[in-house]
Amino acid sequence: MPLLLSRRAFSLGLPAASLIFGAQILPVRAANAPSGSAVTPLAQIRVGRFTVTALSDGYADMPYGYFPGRTPEQVEAAAKAQFTARTSGVRFLFNQYLVEDGSNRILIDSGPAGSMGHTGNLPQALAARGLGADQIDAVIVTHMHQDHVGGLVAGGRRSFPNAEVYVDRRDIVHWTDPGKQAAAPDYLQDSFRLSSDLVRLYPKLQATQGDHQIARGVSLIDLTGHTPGHIGVRIEDGGQSLIMVSDMLFPVVHPAMGTDVNFLLEQDRPAAQAMRARFFPRAAEEGALIAATHMPFPGLGRIVSDQGRLAWLPADWAYQD
Ligand SMILES: [Zn+2]
Repeated sequence: MPLLLSRRAFSLGLPAASLIFGAQILPVRAANAPSGSAVTPLAQIRVGRFTVTALSDGYADMPYGYFPGRTPEQVEAAAKAQFTARTSGVRFLFNQYLVEDGSNRILIDSGPAGSMGHTGNLPQALAARGLGADQIDAVIVTHMHQDHVGGLVAGGRRSFPNAEVYVDRRDIVHWTDPGKQAAAPDYLQDSFRLSSDLVRLYPKLQATQGDHQIARGVSLIDLTGHTPGHIGVRIEDGGQSLIMVSDMLFPVVHPAMGTDVNFLLEQDRPAAQAMRARFFPRAAEEGALIAATHMPFPGLGRIVSDQGRLAWLPADWAYQD
């Protein structure tokens, strides 16, 4: 038992077990929510004139053996040290980010939409913000893995009827190539199928390439590696900025275990490692505020250097001045 908890339990005269339980984040049910449903998490920050809302489509647990570069035992030991170990593996959140400036509503990514794990909550999260899918003006797709494109084409239909969709051209080329699909393992087949659906269903698809400004203060940045056209999004206004970096970071392993740890879905592992080797130290040096899809909700934080060792430091998002 951690010393701090047992001491607090003692001083408050409460059974230790109840305090330990109380220290965990448990799902809280809204008063009017149907029985069994958890409250929809939302988190908001201001970046200059922008309001950025973190939404969550849900989560899925990834087995400890899904991280090439480290053994399952090493990853599990790291999860234990971070108090996040589960028998089902490393918990991946699926965070999406809604960027609003009073005139435009831009959504970054769309989650797996029920195609994996406990997901499919994005529509409720938007509703909790008072929005329907038809009120989204643009969706930026950071790359065409199923956990980022799924919500755009759930059920073989266009889920965001009025949205322009931005995707890097290199990912479109890769994920709509029948030869690449035929050679790909089973666990990537959904991504190929969903990508073809996306291209077919969205007439307002914008194929970009690398760094590209799409609106004042909203720029795509080239983070190729995780996939050929993997991009991030920089939100910038009034001297403040936020970089949504998508799959540059995975929970438990990044950044602390090193840039040479991959995730199973990364085909070009050296390219993913090279991008992380460039990005992690730079982000730490700049103190950049980061949003990352799979980090614990709301996925906002910084990469910091503590005597040369890189670590993830969650941001204090709730009470900004
Ligand atoms: Zn992902």
